[in-house]
Amino acid sequence: MSVLGIAKGMGVTLSHLFKKPVTVQYPEEKVDVQARFRGRHHLLRHPDTGLEKCIGCSLCAAACPAYAIYVEAAENDPDDPTSAGERYASIYEINMLRCIFCGFCEEACPTGAIVLGHEFELADFRYENFVYGKDDMLVGVKGSKWQRREAERAGRDVELGLAPSHRPELEGVDY
Ligand code: SF4
Ligand code: SF4
Repeated sequence: MSVLGIAKGMGVTLSHLFKKPVTVQYPEEKVDVQARFRGRHHLLRHPDTGLEKCIGCSLCAAACPAYAIYVEAAENDPDDPTSAGERYASIYEINMLRCIFCGFCEEACPTGAIVLGHEFELADFRYENFVYGKDDMLVGVKGSKWQRREAERAGRDVELGLAPSHRPELEGVDY
């Protein structure tokens, strides 16, 4: 390599020495992910009625390349419906160990019921704790199973490693 080439390379290195670092001191510092980041799933409700958007059609399960989704549907009680359709998902589970966070389930869903949010801290200890059910994913639920267990044990709110401004719409039922 020529002296000029070395000088150019050193110039690039030196110019980066004085730039703001792109690394984040996680977990002390909150992480700011990109808007299109695909993390833990959320099952949404209709903002006006609060009814679940999921109608238990299983199209997401059919589209899932990792066979991570299991759905069982049941008929809605007309006097006290769970979803806005004729049927609802009586069981809706995603195995987070199988999931590759490709987003195909979100694309396949005809009602916009399932979305991949920004939560990424899904580590846990036992296999069964990676199978997320409706109670773990219905919109408004914050954090992974482990984060919620820890928060309950410590008597505090769930603390996410995400910057607080991220998709606040997923905190409520009106997303
Ligand atoms: S994100 Fe992809 S792999 Fe994960 S549940 Fe959805 S379709 Fe399956
Ligand atoms: S999340 Fe969407 S695609 Fe999956 S069962 Fe519910 S309505 Fe059907």
